[in-house]
Amino acid sequence: MKVNRRDFLTFAGFTAAGVTLGRLGRDRILARETFKGSSGDGPGVEQWTRSVCGQCPAGCGVQVRLVDGRPVKIEGNALCPVSRGRLCPKGAAGLQALYDPDRLVGPVRRVGPRGSGRWERIDWGEAVRAVATRLSALRQQGRPQGLVYLTGRQPGMMGQALRRFCEAYGSPNLLEAPDLYDEASALVAWVTQGVAAPFGYDLEQTNYLLSFGSPILEAWRSPVWANRAYGRLRRGRPGRRGRFVQVESRLSPTAAKADEWVPIHPGTEAALALGIAHVLVREGRYDEAFVRDRTFGFDDWTDEAGQRHIGFRTLVLSDYDPEAVSAITGVPGVTILRLAREFSAVRPAVAIGEGGVLSRDAYSQFAVHCLNALVGCLGSPGGVVIQQSPPLQPLPPVERDEGARLGLSRPRIDGADPSLWPVTPASLPALAEAILDGRPYPVEALLLDGSAPLRACPAWGRLEQALGKVPFVVSFSPYLDERGAFADLILPDHTPLEKWQDAVPTPWAGPPAVGVGQPALPPLLDTRHTGEVVAEIARGIGGGVAAAFPYQDYREVILHGLRGLYDAQRGMAYSPPFESAWISQLEHGGWWAPGAGSFEEFWAQVVDRGGWWDPAPTHGSGHLRFETPSGRFEFFSQTLRGALAKRTGGAEAALVGLFEEDRLHARGDRAYLPYYEPVPWVGEERDYPLFLNVFEVPALGGARDSNQPFLLEILGPHLQARWETWAEIHPATAKAQGIAEGDRVWVESPLGRVQARARLYAGAMQNVVSLPLGLGAPGGGRWSRGRGANPARILAASRAPFVGIPTGWTTRVKLERASHA
Ligand code: SF4
Repeated sequence: MKVNRRDFLTFAGFTAAGVTLGRLGRDRILARETFKGSSGDGPGVEQWTRSVCGQCPAGCGVQVRLVDGRPVKIEGNALCPVSRGRLCPKGAAGLQALYDPDRLVGPVRRVGPRGSGRWERIDWGEAVRAVATRLSALRQQGRPQGLVYLTGRQPGMMGQALRRFCEAYGSPNLLEAPDLYDEASALVAWVTQGVAAPFGYDLEQTNYLLSFGSPILEAWRSPVWANRAYGRLRRGRPGRRGRFVQVESRLSPTAAKADEWVPIHPGTEAALALGIAHVLVREGRYDEAFVRDRTFGFDDWTDEAGQRHIGFRTLVLSDYDPEAVSAITGVPGVTILRLAREFSAVRPAVAIGEGGVLSRDAYSQFAVHCLNALVGCLGSPGGVVIQQSPPLQPLPPVERDEGARLGLSRPRIDGADPSLWPVTPASLPALAEAILDGRPYPVEALLLDGSAPLRACPAWGRLEQALGKVPFVVSFSPYLDERGAFADLILPDHTPLEKWQDAVPTPWAGPPAVGVGQPALPPLLDTRHTGEVVAEIARGIGGGVAAAFPYQDYREVILHGLRGLYDAQRGMAYSPPFESAWISQLEHGGWWAPGAGSFEEFWAQVVDRGGWWDPAPTHGSGHLRFETPSGRFEFFSQTLRGALAKRTGGAEAALVGLFEEDRLHARGDRAYLPYYEPVPWVGEERDYPLFLNVFEVPALGGARDSNQPFLLEILGPHLQARWETWAEIHPATAKAQGIAEGDRVWVESPLGRVQARARLYAGAMQNVVSLPLGLGAPGGGRWSRGRGANPARILAASRAPFVGIPTGWTTRVKLERASHA
């Protein structure tokens, strides 16, 4: 093979030490032992293997077509209830994750300054020893809390294994950062229904969907399920076409596919929801029986001490008249009236207020969810349910040694307190500030796995600075991505098609499910399953940490978990719709039809079909769960009131301090009712006249790897935007600034500025500039490295009240032309 100068330079820069496959990567992959005899010249022997996609956390089942053992195509698994045979573009591009020529060929150690891209290959023994020795020393010095393990959402056995590792080691810092799914929904379920679990939406059966900025048809929850459900809502039920209204500050692809787009001033969704509630209450258009029998705090009430409190009715009637709401939101009063009347007239109707990065504000979502209570769609077909978790068997309890007890007695590094708040996702901005301040203690070691979502962290520069300050950083990503840019060591994981996976899908329609992915082929490179590497590190540390990890093989962990599904005597291996419907009927009638005579048979079925689920209905009055002090849905949240009283010891001054810390203006009863809180915008209007909106694109939202040309080619199909970052600007706004289509523009906030391609878009609001997330992170492969800009860099970090989940609307910006197209 002839190597020209350019090839040589590429090798010299990135593969001289043999750390990636380099420019000749594809040839080198195909030359591997695994593919010997797979020349690709003849017809070949075809084989299909079911697995889990793994390109994002949604957990879709896939089937992989192999020819002579070589994966050549990925399709959806028709038996998987989440995807039912469909894939999103990321799933279809999964082969590019496997064949990425910039994958690491094995573990590497940094030899140049951080971020210089200079690495050397080391063997696995050395790599694991290096981590174990470092962590062991930290523990022996009495500072196990200085370890942080940062990952994405981990609801399955992998999460259990990681929690186990941190617990046995003595670190309170297993941080799971939300990605695609908005954790504030679980907080709202807890505040209103006393159940700290996410909502599931029965979108397929609803007749009216009112979305407050949720990117339902983009990067939201399980994109394949959401698009499938949307198709059924609109055209899958003869004679019944669901109506879909999208309230949003941008004509997003979701809004463009809705029946109606309602533009709204940024950050005022809660006011609109409460304005709609005002009309429902004033005109008596709510479900009176449900509100009377199943809710608390709708009317004013008196507590045991004889103190009078206002209820939801008084609140919305006094504060959220449509005309007042119109002045806040920019939505005409007549539209508010019409939306309220439609929403109450067409049943079942459901309101959704959660979504991606747009709004993680729990009070806004609280307001939206109250609409669901008003129309009585909680737990009903076509409404909102509590998403169920699969009954996986937990790993045995950890025996904590002295070192573990010491570390676990310290607070979590990002300030979240799981003993007070049952929903405590990681806050990356809070982590960054804690690292930079060295408080409550220094972070001395950071483990980043391949699902840790760093790119979208607001105030990205602060996180970048903070990660640079941690003395020891390890990445488990298979790629030289943004995690690797901060790392001292990279211990690369397998890519999804090469490994055993248990994938609990992101919350979807309510039924519990778990995808089980078997390897479609042996690992192509010298990589290892992170679940197994973590166990090896634990054994290297020794003592109580080693004792907690008797397993060698991650498959054993999945087997252990699946015993819980078998013993639960419910559900079934993934099956075609008619079979699932039959089991659903049986279970509804109180029967369970065991599909397997033994656990071994059950395991074989689940692996062969790609997963397990329980199709029994999750809605109906028997599924309504209200675990609140009143035993009802609470418009006035006694759960929230109790938690705040516990946190502040009931002292009024401490409570006010807490509100001030979270920049909340509500006081008294209003703090426990849903309400609209104006956004404390960063940036003065006179200097920064526009609002910054950042959004996830479906091609990269939740993606584990952005170095995939198929995906970079389809970043913004609505504008045919590809391979770069663009700014959506209203034509009138652009004209006022002398900006033309295609110009390069600076988008500047008080935090800094990023450059983007101007796209003049009539679907932009005149006072809003929208930029996509996904590009501009450090590191990356040949296609993603140095490409685009990261708008999270200029997005101010804010926090939703109490649990600190970053909110989306925070920042004002201005525009300036950088150069002509
Ligand atoms: S939604 Fe996620 S898991 Fe499903 S096909 Fe797309 S990338 Fe794969």
